Order: sequence, then structure tokens, then C-alpha cells
Amino acid sequence: GAAAMTVVVVGAGQAGVQTAASLRDNGYPGRVVLVGDEPGEPYQRPPLSKGYLEGTADAARLTLRGSSFFAKNDIDFLNTRVRRIDRDRKRVLTADGDELAYAHLVLATGSRNRALPVPGAALDGVFGLRTREDADVLRDRLGAAQHVVVIGGGFIGLEFAATAAKLGRSVTVVETVGRVLARVASPAVSAHYTDLHETHGNRILTGRTVTRLLGESSVTGVEVAGNGPDLVLPADLVVVGIGVIPNTELAADAGLAVDNGILVDECLSTSDSNVSAIGDCAAHSSPFASGPVRLESVQNAVDQARCVAAKLTGETAPYRSVPWFWSDQFHTKLQIAGLANGYDRTVVSGEPGAFSVFCFQGERLRAVESVNRPADHMAARRLFAAGTGLHPDDIDDGFELKRHLASAG
Ligand code: FAD
Repeated sequence: GAAAMTVVVVGAGQAGVQTAASLRDNGYPGRVVLVGDEPGEPYQRPPLSKGYLEGTADAARLTLRGSSFFAKNDIDFLNTRVRRIDRDRKRVLTADGDELAYAHLVLATGSRNRALPVPGAALDGVFGLRTREDADVLRDRLGAAQHVVVIGGGFIGLEFAATAAKLGRSVTVVETVGRVLARVASPAVSAHYTDLHETHGNRILTGRTVTRLLGESSVTGVEVAGNGPDLVLPADLVVVGIGVIPNTELAADAGLAVDNGILVDECLSTSDSNVSAIGDCAAHSSPFASGPVRLESVQNAVDQARCVAAKLTGETAPYRSVPWFWSDQFHTKLQIAGLANGYDRTVVSGEPGAFSVFCFQGERLRAVESVNRPADHMAARRLFAAGTGLHPDDIDDGFELKRHLASAG
């Protein structure tokens, strides 16, 4: 019957929507069902901390694909939540009470914000930033906020702080470890972003841990310990950006292997070959890392979706895409190619406002971080894709990666 050819995709975010679109691009003849639990049309998240929050990009610019796309491409978009997977009968159960039979199931359930584990975290005025709704509320609250505190100096916290500064609010960012972006970027990049924020009137506190949020019903202050005397920062708006947790419960309840993400093999199949997992929720092996990695990026969501769609249309190939990422803050664009884990040596090339950091493990290049150096970034992606080497000693005065690549290839 029809079920023999049905692909059900759970989650209508960046990865899920791309899976449905790529299946049709590749001429997949069977039924494609996309199930998403968020209200409205599927949308992309990056502008939520940037242009959409600032008010320079409207809701239409957020939309990934609208209803006319789904109709035209014969994709059944169901606005509901998948409650359970029955792998024996190859069915999923929705909150609406429907049972959907599948030949192949794609889990693209994304991630959710990690909750702040301190007293007061549930006070009014304390928010995360993950959904369109979160961004709408924050944009509204920013209008009247006097004292804005961001907890967590990662990408989302810093992007929010940059946008808030552009809107005339000065922000205090509190980061537990010794530098911002510690989990995702080298010390040179961290130092650049600390300067950038301070130049624009934001305050960055590192080595400081939030112990408590103060207030009766609404937040009035943030209690901070470590690195000097305890402080209370006045606050009427607090944004928590301390990382995410992958949405793996559905998979775990169905008995699929899970370990900080739904575990998948190099072709993105879970421990059940009829089920794939992609995007923020999936932990995959990668030629760019030694163990399974879970990446939180548009690149990873989109490329994994394409890889699974290819597998389902007869072109099975391991997932080998070069990881890349970007972040926009003020007028500065950071772009990262490769994965900056396990490096032991960095070489910086360029000038203070426009430079690249080359991260090496021994003599092996692991990542290139480019600040306002888009040509380096594009060249780095090509270099990683081609497997071309770069020796630390190649990086001399006036080094240009593009020229190196041309002479090497
Ligand atoms: P998601 O986009 O999170 O989609 C998952 C969807 O599945 C969600 O809608 C969820 O509600 C739904 N879902 C979960 N469980 C179920 C269920 N049981 N039934 C039905 N639906 C379900 N990345 C970059 O590369 N560059 C950036 O500049 C950047 N900026 C960002 C800014 C912000 C504010 C945020 C939050 C993220 C940003 N990211 C950025 C990260 C990027 O958006 C994510 O990596 C990407 O969205 C992951 O796509 P995904 O499809 O895996 O997950």
C-alpha cells in the first residue's frame, strides 16, 4: 500500500523542511509527511537573535517554506506533535490521535534550551531565545527594559547582547568560565568579541557564576559569585543562553540508541535502519572529529537532510560535509570552517579588525576562524573539502589562504 513508500519526518525546522524539499528535488515518488509542533509556517532561527529581534527582518523573511510550497510539492504538512514511535508496526502516533505508517522515519526534532538551575529562574522577566515566540516577547520587553542581563557568553547570548546594544540598551553578560565563546572558538576570537562588546557599551563579566535570581514575582536582580566579591546586578530583563539539550526522548522511548543525541552511523541511520536522525538532535561520527559529535548549525541541518534524502532516493553516501558556522554581531562577521576541538596551536594572520585564526593539532589543520575575512573562510571550506594540507610554517606575513590554495591545487 501507500505506507510502503511513505517517509514521515518528525520536526519541521531547518533539517525537517530540507528533508521534505530534497526528497521532492530528487524525484522521490512516495508520500512525504512533515510533522511539526510549532505554530505557524516553518521558519529559520538565525535571524531570531539578529535582524528579526532588531526589527530589520520581518516575519516573512523568517519563513523557510510556506503552505504553497508544500501544496505544490505534494508534501503533507501536519501541525501537531508526534507522541510515540511504534517501531514494530512502523507507525508514529500524533497528539491529534492519528497513526501514521512509515516506510522510513526521519527524526529532526532539534534541541531545546537548557534551564538555568538556580532559584528564581522561573520569575517573570527571565527568558530563553529559541523560538519565534521567544523573539517576539524579547523584542517587546526590550522596549521598556532598563537593566538587561545575559547569562551565558555563547553565540546566542552575545548575539542577543549585540542586538540589544544596537537598540540602545546596555547589557551585562555573565559567563562562568574565563572567556566568552570558550566552547566554540579560540582565545583570540574570544578576546576580539569581548573588546567589540565593551566598545559598544556592553559589560562582560567572566569567571562569574549566577547563584540566584532575585525578585518577588518579576526579576529585579542577578546574584553573581566568583572572581572577586559577590555582586548583585540590577535586572528587569534576563536572557538565559547556557546551551541546549537535544530532543531525544521520542527516540529513547522507542529503544533507539541515545547518548547526548540520537546516535547515528556515517549514513545517518539510527540503531534501526528504518529510522534516520539529523540536525541538532543527532550525534554522528565525522571525519572532522574523533568521537560522535552533535553540531548545532544550519549547515549541519541542511547537509544532513540532503544526505538522508539522497539515501532514500538510491544515492547512499557517508555524511562528510565540511562543518561551517557563522555569527553576526554589530558589523562583524565571524565564520568558522572545520571543528575547533582538539587543537593545540593557533596561528593568527591578518590585522586587528579582519583576521583569521588557524587552529592546528600538531601539524594538522582543524579549523579556520575568520573575523571579517570572508575570502579566507570560503578558501578554508574548499581546502577542507579537497583535503589539501596547510602547514603552520606556510602562514607568513601577508598570508592569503586563497593564494595558498591556488598554488597547492
Ligand atoms: P530545529 O530548527 O530546532 O527544529 C526542530 C523542530 O522539531 C522544532 O520546531 C521542534 O518544535 C520540532 N519538534 C520536536 N519534537 C517534535 C515532535 N515530537 N513532534 C513534532 N515536532 C517536534 N546556526 C547557524 O549556523 N548560524 C547562526 O547564526 C545561528 N543562529 C541561531 C540563533 C538562534 C537564536 C538559535 C536558537 C539558533 C541559531 N542557530 C544558528 C542554530 C540553528 O538554528 C540550528 O542548528 C538549526 O535550527 C537546527 O535545525 P534542526 O531542524 O535540527 O532543529
